[in-house]
Amino acid sequence: MEKWILLGLAPVFLALIIWEALYWRRRQPENYSLKDVASNAVLALMHQASDAIAWTVVTGLFYLVYQYRVFDLPPASVWTIAALFVAQDFFYYWFHRASHRIRWMWASHVTHHSSERLNFSTAFRQSLTYPISGMWLFWLPLAWLGFDPTHIIAVVAINLAFQFFVHTQAVGKLGWLEYVFNTPSHHRVHHARNPKYIDRNYAGVLIIWDKLFGTYVDEDPAVPCEYGIIGQIHSHNPITLTFHEWIAMFRDAARVGGLRGALGQLFCPPERADSHRRRQAAS
Ligand SMILES: [Zn+2]
Ligand SMILES: [Zn+2]
Repeated sequence: MEKWILLGLAPVFLALIIWEALYWRRRQPENYSLKDVASNAVLALMHQASDAIAWTVVTGLFYLVYQYRVFDLPPASVWTIAALFVAQDFFYYWFHRASHRIRWMWASHVTHHSSERLNFSTAFRQSLTYPISGMWLFWLPLAWLGFDPTHIIAVVAINLAFQFFVHTQAVGKLGWLEYVFNTPSHHRVHHARNPKYIDRNYAGVLIIWDKLFGTYVDEDPAVPCEYGIIGQIHSHNPITLTFHEWIAMFRDAARVGGLRGALGQLFCPPERADSHRRRQAAS
Protein backbone atom coordinates (compact mmCIF):
# COMPACT_ATOMS: atom_id res chain seq x y z
CA MET A 1 0.00 0.00 0.00
CA GLU A 2 2.80 2.42 0.84
CA LYS A 3 4.00 2.38 -2.76
CA TRP A 4 0.53 3.47 -3.95
CA ILE A 5 0.45 6.35 -1.47
CA LEU A 6 3.72 7.77 -2.77
CA LEU A 7 2.95 6.92 -6.40
CA GLY A 8 -0.49 8.53 -6.14
CA LEU A 9 1.05 11.72 -4.76
CA ALA A 10 3.87 11.78 -7.35
CA PRO A 11 2.05 14.20 -9.73
CA VAL A 12 1.42 16.60 -6.80
CA PHE A 13 5.09 16.42 -5.76
CA LEU A 14 6.25 17.02 -9.32
CA ALA A 15 3.84 19.93 -9.94
CA LEU A 16 4.95 21.65 -6.72
CA ILE A 17 8.65 21.26 -7.57
CA ILE A 18 8.05 22.82 -11.01
CA TRP A 19 5.95 25.62 -9.49
CA GLU A 20 8.59 26.34 -6.84
CA ALA A 21 11.47 26.35 -9.35
CA LEU A 22 9.58 28.88 -11.50
CA TYR A 23 8.70 30.93 -8.41
CA TRP A 24 12.37 31.30 -7.45
CA ARG A 25 13.59 31.85 -11.01
CA ARG A 26 12.39 35.43 -10.91
CA ARG A 27 13.31 36.06 -7.25
CA GLN A 28 16.30 34.01 -6.05
CA PRO A 29 17.43 31.64 -8.83
CA GLU A 30 20.20 30.22 -6.57
CA ASN A 31 17.51 28.40 -4.56
CA TYR A 32 17.30 25.82 -7.35
CA SER A 33 20.08 24.10 -9.20
CA LEU A 34 19.61 21.37 -11.78
CA LYS A 35 22.58 19.40 -10.41
CA ASP A 36 21.15 19.50 -6.91
CA VAL A 37 17.67 18.42 -8.05
CA ALA A 38 19.16 15.63 -10.20
CA SER A 39 21.23 14.21 -7.33
CA ASN A 40 18.17 14.43 -5.03
CA ALA A 41 16.15 12.47 -7.62
CA VAL A 42 18.81 9.74 -7.97
CA LEU A 43 19.08 9.48 -4.16
CA ALA A 44 15.28 9.12 -3.98
CA LEU A 45 15.31 6.18 -6.40
CA MET A 46 18.20 4.49 -4.56
CA HIS A 47 16.35 4.97 -1.27
CA GLN A 48 13.05 3.62 -2.64
CA ALA A 49 14.76 0.46 -3.87
CA SER A 50 16.48 -0.24 -0.55
CA ASP A 51 13.28 0.60 1.35
CA ALA A 52 11.29 -1.95 -0.68
CA ILE A 53 13.91 -4.63 -0.01
CA ALA A 54 14.10 -3.75 3.69
CA TRP A 55 10.31 -4.04 4.16
CA THR A 56 10.18 -7.46 2.50
CA VAL A 57 12.90 -8.58 4.93
CA VAL A 58 11.54 -7.05 8.16
CA THR A 59 7.75 -7.40 7.65
CA GLY A 60 7.98 -10.99 8.96
CA LEU A 61 9.59 -9.69 12.14
CA PHE A 62 6.75 -7.18 12.57
CA TYR A 63 4.18 -9.98 12.30
CA LEU A 64 6.16 -12.06 14.78
CA VAL A 65 6.17 -9.23 17.34
CA TYR A 66 2.47 -8.56 16.56
CA GLN A 67 1.68 -12.11 17.74
CA TYR A 68 2.90 -11.11 21.21
CA ARG A 69 0.93 -7.82 21.23
CA VAL A 70 -0.04 -6.19 24.50
CA PHE A 71 -3.44 -4.88 23.35
CA ASP A 72 -6.05 -6.42 21.06
CA LEU A 73 -6.97 -3.29 19.15
CA PRO A 74 -9.81 -3.46 16.60
CA PRO A 75 -7.74 -2.86 13.40
CA ALA A 76 -10.52 -1.12 11.42
CA SER A 77 -11.62 1.27 14.20
CA VAL A 78 -11.19 5.00 13.57
CA TRP A 79 -9.79 5.32 17.09
CA THR A 80 -7.15 2.69 16.47
CA ILE A 81 -6.07 4.42 13.24
CA ALA A 82 -6.01 7.83 15.00
CA ALA A 83 -3.96 6.39 17.88
CA LEU A 84 -1.58 4.80 15.36
CA PHE A 85 -0.99 8.17 13.65
CA VAL A 86 -0.13 9.85 16.96
CA ALA A 87 1.96 6.94 18.28
CA GLN A 88 3.91 6.58 15.02
CA ASP A 89 4.60 10.33 14.98
CA PHE A 90 5.86 10.07 18.58
CA PHE A 91 8.28 7.29 17.58
CA TYR A 92 9.24 9.27 14.47
CA TYR A 93 10.32 12.13 16.75
CA TRP A 94 12.66 9.78 18.68
CA PHE A 95 13.91 8.14 15.48
CA HIS A 96 14.75 11.57 14.08
CA ARG A 97 16.35 12.83 17.31
CA ALA A 98 18.48 9.67 17.53
CA SER A 99 19.42 10.14 13.86
CA HIS A 100 21.04 13.46 14.79
CA ARG A 101 22.65 12.39 18.05
CA ILE A 102 24.00 8.88 17.35
CA ARG A 103 26.66 8.73 14.66
CA TRP A 104 25.60 5.25 13.43
CA MET A 105 22.25 6.79 12.50
CA TRP A 106 23.61 10.19 11.44
CA ALA A 107 25.74 8.33 8.85
CA SER A 108 22.45 7.68 7.00
CA HIS A 109 20.56 10.86 7.86
CA VAL A 110 23.41 13.24 6.95
CA THR A 111 22.53 12.64 3.28
CA HIS A 112 19.19 14.40 3.79
CA HIS A 113 20.95 17.39 5.37
CA SER A 114 24.00 17.81 3.14
CA SER A 115 22.38 20.05 0.52
CA GLU A 116 23.18 23.74 0.88
CA ARG A 117 19.79 24.47 -0.64
CA LEU A 118 16.32 23.81 0.73
CA ASN A 119 13.37 23.26 -1.58
CA PHE A 120 10.67 20.66 -2.22
CA SER A 121 13.17 18.42 -4.02
CA THR A 122 15.26 18.21 -0.81
CA ALA A 123 12.50 16.01 0.64
CA PHE A 124 13.57 13.29 -1.82
CA ARG A 125 17.18 13.45 -0.79
CA GLN A 126 17.43 10.29 1.32
CA SER A 127 19.92 7.55 2.02
CA LEU A 128 19.69 3.91 1.00
CA THR A 129 21.42 2.94 4.25
CA TYR A 130 18.50 3.72 6.61
CA PRO A 131 17.71 -0.01 7.05
CA ILE A 132 21.32 -0.57 8.22
CA SER A 133 21.04 2.32 10.66
CA GLY A 134 17.94 0.59 12.06
CA MET A 135 15.08 2.95 11.15
CA TRP A 136 12.59 0.03 11.17
CA LEU A 137 13.49 -0.74 14.81
CA PHE A 138 11.68 2.44 15.85
CA TRP A 139 8.33 1.20 14.44
CA LEU A 140 8.61 -2.24 16.03
CA PRO A 141 7.08 -1.12 19.39
CA LEU A 142 3.92 -0.20 17.42
CA ALA A 143 3.45 -3.86 16.43
CA TRP A 144 4.10 -4.91 20.01
CA LEU A 145 1.45 -2.42 21.20
CA GLY A 146 -1.07 -4.13 18.89
CA PHE A 147 -1.18 -2.10 15.67
CA ASP A 148 -1.54 -4.11 12.45
CA PRO A 149 1.85 -4.25 10.64
CA THR A 150 0.31 -3.36 7.24
CA HIS A 151 -1.25 -0.27 8.80
CA ILE A 152 2.08 0.64 10.44
CA ILE A 153 3.88 0.51 7.07
CA ALA A 154 1.16 2.70 5.49
CA VAL A 155 1.28 5.27 8.31
CA VAL A 156 5.09 5.47 8.12
CA ALA A 157 4.70 6.27 4.39
CA ILE A 158 1.98 8.88 5.05
CA ASN A 159 4.14 10.59 7.70
CA LEU A 160 7.04 10.83 5.22
CA ALA A 161 4.70 11.99 2.44
CA PHE A 162 3.42 14.79 4.70
CA GLN A 163 6.97 15.94 5.25
CA PHE A 164 7.42 16.67 1.53
CA PHE A 165 5.29 19.79 2.06
CA VAL A 166 7.49 21.29 4.79
CA HIS A 167 10.60 21.43 2.57
CA THR A 168 10.20 24.92 1.16
CA GLN A 169 11.31 28.50 1.60
CA ALA A 170 8.39 29.79 -0.47
CA VAL A 171 5.87 29.58 2.41
CA GLY A 172 5.99 31.89 5.45
CA LYS A 173 4.39 31.27 8.83
CA LEU A 174 1.00 29.57 8.82
CA GLY A 175 -0.89 31.11 11.76
CA TRP A 176 -2.38 28.70 14.32
CA LEU A 177 -1.05 25.67 12.43
CA GLU A 178 2.42 26.59 13.71
CA TYR A 179 1.34 25.63 17.26
CA VAL A 180 0.34 22.08 16.42
CA PHE A 181 1.98 20.96 13.20
CA ASN A 182 5.44 20.75 11.72
CA THR A 183 5.46 23.57 9.14
CA PRO A 184 7.87 24.91 6.50
CA SER A 185 9.07 27.48 9.06
CA HIS A 186 9.81 24.82 11.72
CA HIS A 187 11.53 22.57 9.21
CA ARG A 188 13.70 25.36 7.75
CA VAL A 189 15.09 25.73 11.27
CA HIS A 190 15.72 21.98 11.33
CA HIS A 191 17.78 22.15 8.11
CA ALA A 192 19.82 25.15 9.27
CA ARG A 193 23.32 24.78 10.69
CA ASN A 194 23.38 28.10 12.60
CA PRO A 195 24.33 27.47 16.26
CA LYS A 196 20.89 28.71 17.35
CA TYR A 197 19.07 26.27 15.08
CA ILE A 198 21.18 23.12 14.91
CA ASP A 199 19.61 19.91 16.28
CA ARG A 200 16.20 21.47 16.83
CA ASN A 201 12.65 20.76 15.55
CA TYR A 202 12.79 17.00 14.97
CA ALA A 203 9.03 16.79 14.36
CA GLY A 204 7.46 14.64 11.68
CA VAL A 205 3.82 15.79 11.58
CA LEU A 206 3.19 17.21 15.08
CA ILE A 207 5.51 19.90 16.52
CA ILE A 208 4.17 19.19 20.03
CA TRP A 209 6.89 16.57 20.68
CA ASP A 210 9.67 19.18 20.32
CA LYS A 211 7.82 21.50 22.68
CA LEU A 212 7.28 18.65 25.15
CA PHE A 213 10.86 17.35 25.07
CA GLY A 214 12.72 20.67 24.93
CA THR A 215 14.03 20.67 21.35
CA TYR A 216 11.81 23.39 19.88
CA VAL A 217 13.08 26.69 18.52
CA ASP A 218 11.15 29.34 16.58
CA GLU A 219 12.41 30.66 13.23
CA ASP A 220 13.87 34.09 13.99
CA PRO A 221 13.66 36.68 11.16
CA ALA A 222 16.90 38.23 12.55
CA VAL A 223 18.78 34.93 12.04
CA PRO A 224 18.44 33.75 8.41
CA CYS A 225 18.81 29.99 8.00
CA GLU A 226 22.16 28.79 6.67
CA TYR A 227 21.46 25.38 5.13
CA GLY A 228 23.65 22.29 5.15
CA ILE A 229 25.95 20.54 7.63
CA ILE A 230 28.88 21.72 9.75
CA GLY A 231 31.56 20.31 7.40
CA GLN A 232 29.85 21.04 4.05
CA ILE A 233 30.42 18.18 1.63
CA HIS A 234 30.24 20.17 -1.68
CA SER A 235 29.39 17.14 -3.82
CA HIS A 236 26.57 16.12 -6.14
CA ASN A 237 27.75 12.54 -6.50
CA PRO A 238 25.02 10.27 -5.04
CA ILE A 239 27.61 7.64 -4.03
CA THR A 240 29.73 10.19 -2.14
CA LEU A 241 26.59 11.69 -0.59
CA THR A 242 25.45 8.26 0.58
CA PHE A 243 28.68 6.88 1.98
CA HIS A 244 31.00 9.73 3.06
CA GLU A 245 30.01 9.64 6.73
CA TRP A 246 30.11 5.81 6.91
CA ILE A 247 33.66 5.90 5.51
CA ALA A 248 34.75 8.69 7.89
CA MET A 249 33.17 6.81 10.79
CA PHE A 250 34.91 3.47 10.14
CA ARG A 251 38.21 5.28 9.48
CA ASP A 252 37.86 7.04 12.83
CA ALA A 253 37.01 3.76 14.56
CA ALA A 254 40.14 2.15 13.08
CA ARG A 255 42.36 5.13 13.94
CA VAL A 256 41.15 5.46 17.53
CA GLY A 257 41.42 1.70 17.99
CA GLY A 258 40.51 -0.50 20.95
CA LEU A 259 37.00 -1.88 21.28
CA ARG A 260 35.82 0.90 23.57
CA GLY A 261 37.33 3.63 21.43
CA ALA A 262 36.02 2.14 18.19
CA LEU A 263 32.50 1.67 19.54
CA GLY A 264 32.70 5.21 20.88
CA GLN A 265 33.30 6.45 17.32
CA LEU A 266 30.33 4.48 15.99
CA PHE A 267 27.80 5.64 18.58
CA CYS A 268 28.99 9.07 19.75
CA PRO A 269 27.20 12.33 18.88
CA PRO A 270 28.48 13.53 15.45
CA GLU A 271 30.39 16.51 16.91
CA ARG A 272 32.46 14.16 19.10
CA ALA A 273 33.71 12.24 16.07
CA ASP A 274 37.50 12.04 15.89
CA SER A 275 37.69 13.44 12.33
CA HIS A 276 35.37 16.29 13.29
CA ARG A 277 37.56 17.23 16.27
CA ARG A 278 40.72 17.10 14.15
CA ARG A 279 39.11 19.37 11.56
CA GLN A 280 38.08 21.81 14.30
CA ALA A 281 41.58 21.78 15.80
CA ALA A 282 43.19 22.45 12.39
CA SER A 283 40.99 25.44 11.57
ZN1 LIG B 1 17.06 15.74 10.35
ZN1 LIG C 1 14.02 17.60 5.97
